[in-house]
Amino acid sequence: MVKEIFISSTQKRQFIDITDKVLSLVRESGIESGICFLYVPHTTAAITINENADHSVQKDILKELEKIVPLDDNYSHSEGNAAAHIKSTLSGITQYFFIQDGEAKLGTWQGIFFCEFDGPRRRQVLVNVVNEDTTYEAK
Ligand code: ZN
Repeated sequence: MVKEIFISSTQKRQFIDITDKVLSLVRESGIESGICFLYVPHTTAAITINENADHSVQKDILKELEKIVPLDDNYSHSEGNAAAHIKSTLSGITQYFFIQDGEAKLGTWQGIFFCEFDGPRRRQVLVNVVNEDTTYEAK
């Protein structure tokens, strides 16, 4: 079943740590063994899994993305947020991780981050925790 995490307000460009919210949905599901799928239904945002111990990593990623995709580069898209669309595609709108013995198999230093590239906006992340028993087994 698809659940939603709502982010009531974002800043212009930022990473938001949603690890606790996601892990809470994993626990609520009661699923011992499976996969947690994460999906961002937006075109100027993304989701990533990366270091959550040192917050300067998130700043560095945002800073380097600015260099790769400048805010103004003679884009054709007239809405003025072409850079945010490109960063969304580069970073990706899906992630997943495995669940084993009821625990998320994330690395020690990994956190799950919603990536805002065109705020402030109200955003959401869709979460589907799938039981391993429902996956297809080849005969
Ligand atoms: Zn646009």
